[in-house]
Amino acid sequence: MEKQDQLLMKKQNKNLVLEIIKNQSPISRMEIAKVTGMSPTSITRIVNELHLQGFVRETELVTSGVGRKAVLLDVCGDVLYTVGVEIDKLIIKIGIVNYVGEIVAWKGIPRDVSESYYETLEKVNVNVKELISKNCILNKRIIGIGVGIPGSIDYKNGVVKVSDQLKWKNVNIAKDLKQLTAFDVMIDNELKMKIVAENSKGIAKDSQNAVLVGIGSGIGSAIILNGEIYRGDSNNAGEIGHTVIDPTGNVCNCGKIGCLATYISEGALIDDSRKVKEIDTIDDVFDSYRNGESWAINIMDRTSTYIALAISNILCLYNPEVIILSGNTIEKLPEIKEPIKQKCELYIWEPLKERIKIAFSQLGDRGVVLGAAIQAQNLMLDLE
Ligand SMILES: [Zn+2]
Repeated sequence: MEKQDQLLMKKQNKNLVLEIIKNQSPISRMEIAKVTGMSPTSITRIVNELHLQGFVRETELVTSGVGRKAVLLDVCGDVLYTVGVEIDKLIIKIGIVNYVGEIVAWKGIPRDVSESYYETLEKVNVNVKELISKNCILNKRIIGIGVGIPGSIDYKNGVVKVSDQLKWKNVNIAKDLKQLTAFDVMIDNELKMKIVAENSKGIAKDSQNAVLVGIGSGIGSAIILNGEIYRGDSNNAGEIGHTVIDPTGNVCNCGKIGCLATYISEGALIDDSRKVKEIDTIDDVFDSYRNGESWAINIMDRTSTYIALAISNILCLYNPEVIILSGNTIEKLPEIKEPIKQKCELYIWEPLKERIKIAFSQLGDRGVVLGAAIQAQNLMLDLE
């Protein structure tokens, strides 16, 4: 074997052992040897290396059952961290996430819609640094920043191609934020980051086929297909907000007529409500619904119908095991869950009905930050 290949294989084996300890801990060296098919000597050597690098520790637990007792291994959560960032229209959220996917520090900062691109980036920079130093985390333990952003994202080059919500076009955040913070930066679409979080820590944990739908100021979805994020040709797979549901309907800000978003996004709900009553925010719409005002009941009834139709279409296209509903509308108006479920009963095609699990995100408003941080770890962790 060539020297180069030998090094690569060594690295792959080390990654594999670390993955197994991370996912199956507490686990003994013997069990790792059994799972990987590697020799006990190799496992001992790799575990020693990982221990020296701070990734792995021996627990106080030992194997149960007959035979010689063996010490069980675990990973060290504080060996490294990544910073997850979500940039939304009205808020920036920042979380520091450790190696085992726990959010150890958190901060939300209001964002003004009139804020420029550079003002927002500077805000991210200042607050990331402040959060790190406040929590006494060494800079060298932070391996990078992951950012989740609404819109069409060129994740390979770190460029936001277009974000209607942030009013950004062709900006290279990965480069600009790296320049400010001095950390490596990766960016991706926010819902794709959210489903990464659900897939590693949430309802779709380890699911091979799952879809997450986001319903709030924007409408979209993200898809895990055969265990991988499904991106399509230009990372826009899942943009259901711009599927047309009525060619004679409302004009969308994308220039088309009758997009789904023009019926169920927060902005659309507010616009329709204003035809009846003077209201300021989406909370006013939901309050009116709770007060039993018939116009608000009508609008939300139509909304739950369109959500159920979108779910039914997604199921026909991808046949996932689980579909997760998330976003501001679901979080602020949990009463809408029941009507959505009832309408799904009406609209979902029979052969798909039996096995599908319709679930609601439990990660709340932290999903994007957590997912972006986990994805940054997946991409940036390079074991020597
Ligand atoms: Zn549209």
